[in-house]
Amino acid sequence: MTTDAAPAPPRRVAVYTGSFDPFHRGHEHIARRAAKLFDRLVVGVGENPEKKYLFSPDERVATVREVLGDLPNVAVGAFEGLTVRFAAAQGAGVLLRGIRALADIEYEFSMSLTNASLDRSLETVFLMAKAEYSHLSSSLIRQIAQLGGDLTGFVPPAVEERLRRKFGP
Ligand code: ADP
Repeated sequence: MTTDAAPAPPRRVAVYTGSFDPFHRGHEHIARRAAKLFDRLVVGVGENPEKKYLFSPDERVATVREVLGDLPNVAVGAFEGLTVRFAAAQGAGVLLRGIRALADIEYEFSMSLTNASLDRSLETVFLMAKAEYSHLSSSLIRQIAQLGGDLTGFVPPAVEERLRRKFGP
């Protein structure tokens, strides 16, 4: 069989990117499942200079490292710019995305087509959110934290602690 595809990089390294501002249970669940599916998972904490974040890139990287610290095949780093460049720099063949609801699919579908046209050697793989975490989003967590709500069950303890320090008891 002939193919016009460029030689593919190893398929078993995946990158999982996002703002993770903050990293919540939905993100954690996706990352833990992916760590079992791939030889190596690199969590990429995105930095967009035009976006305002609650936590700095260093804080977000440190938090994700703490939460996933028990997984030996997971690395965490910050990146700026195109996801496909970050993936290539990590030697990844897979972009991993989480899907919460049907509403995510339209955006994710066009992102995957865009990324595929930017780098044909990359494949996007989607994992469905666990039902009990499918309503979680970082913006919802930030709102609850700001209003002093109980975040138990929504975020890992390391994140809860950092949010408490940010917003007070
Ligand atoms: P962004 O910076 O694109 O807003 P996020 O930091 O919110 O990204 O999310 C990063 C990744 O995690 C995306 O693939 C997103 O679809 C996924 N994700 C976000 N929330 C959840 C959730 N509750 N369950 C599973 N996956 C999620």
